[in-house]
Amino acid sequence: MKRSVGLILSLLLCVSAQAQDFDGYIVKLKEGKKLNTKAFTSSEEINTSFGQFVQLKGTQKSIELLKNNDAVEYVEPNYIVTIDDSLERAEKLVSDPKFSQQWGLKNTGKNSGGWWSPGKKGEDINAENAWKVSKGSKDVIVAVIDTGIDWRHADLKKNLWVNEEELNGEEGVDDDGNGVVDDLYGADFANNDGDPMDGHGHGTHCSGVIGASHDSVGIAGVMANVKLMGIKFLTDSGSGSTANAIKSVNYAIKMGAHVMSNSWGGGGKSEALKEAIVAANDQGIAFVAAAGNSRSDNDAKDTYPANYKVDNVISVGAMDGTGKKASFSNYGKKTVHVFAPGVNILSTVKAGGYKKMSGTSMACPHVSGIVGLLISNNKNLNPSDIKDRLMGTAIMSRSLNSYTVSGRTDAYRALTNRRN
Ligand code: CA
Repeated sequence: MKRSVGLILSLLLCVSAQAQDFDGYIVKLKEGKKLNTKAFTSSEEINTSFGQFVQLKGTQKSIELLKNNDAVEYVEPNYIVTIDDSLERAEKLVSDPKFSQQWGLKNTGKNSGGWWSPGKKGEDINAENAWKVSKGSKDVIVAVIDTGIDWRHADLKKNLWVNEEELNGEEGVDDDGNGVVDDLYGADFANNDGDPMDGHGHGTHCSGVIGASHDSVGIAGVMANVKLMGIKFLTDSGSGSTANAIKSVNYAIKMGAHVMSNSWGGGGKSEALKEAIVAANDQGIAFVAAAGNSRSDNDAKDTYPANYKVDNVISVGAMDGTGKKASFSNYGKKTVHVFAPGVNILSTVKAGGYKKMSGTSMACPHVSGIVGLLISNNKNLNPSDIKDRLMGTAIMSRSLNSYTVSGRTDAYRALTNRRN
């Protein structure tokens, strides 16, 4: 299908006034075609399993001329995206963390409220019952596409994905030929290297929610056993470009991830990113995405990547400790598939620490972990089955009824396919 490049160009030219919203352009090349990039101030090829792209910058005139270029399928802005947390709600470092503080896993009614009001017992993902069915598996890889991962963290070390070929290879050499040098625990597309060490803390927080190891130290992840792949594309300030998100998805596909956890969003609709997500879907990989923190209705206004209409995309809203929609959370009776805990969530952060954070960013990895449990328990589930299972077994409540397709996600019910 030939897209109208002219239409896309006029769209991007009219948004070019808001320079902070994007950084250069993404060009999709027609199959087998090359682009002469001399006319541009910078360019970089992105070779993926789902097509050839060029990330470039140039004068308005040089971009406009792409319209008549035979090699070009389409051109779109390289949107800037950001983490989906709500920073004003982040709390101080917690020095003595315990499972008893993790209301998202087990809400006692006393560990989930604020100073102003109590929480509500049982408004959680029902983790303890789920763990009687599955505690995860070392065969399941969850890629956390975010600000990176503190791979030195004592609570995460045992559950890291490790690239064995690089581990047993030579330093400074791309031993496995995947295009990234020394990518031991994932990759860093924000700085173009093989070290996804987290300079922000957000990616490490999401990683801990999914898979902090179950032992006598710190917190417990939704999955006791998992391989966490750290893919960094958001910088230490928490923002990144769509082109680097595409590189991240491509890497996760190539390196065999089963689930992608995406606690970020923003920018306009990107055809290239959608193609990356479709390629992941074709490989049977679930794409879990935060619904966003703008208090807005995703049915009325699209939020990306949560609103891409691909079978593997699972959009997650955030609820508080009383089971109500978090004030900041986006919602959507048709577009937000499930809700999960996302207020005052205790998890791992950079430099070996722990912190409570709030956002749909925190709700998203709860669901990524549940999807990991489902795959651990049954390898034959495809992304559509998984989404159907999550939504079919979620618990609807009066307080969430107008905000989501299905309700609060429940790990135990999802694992046992309990639908009544
Ligand atoms: Ca490599």
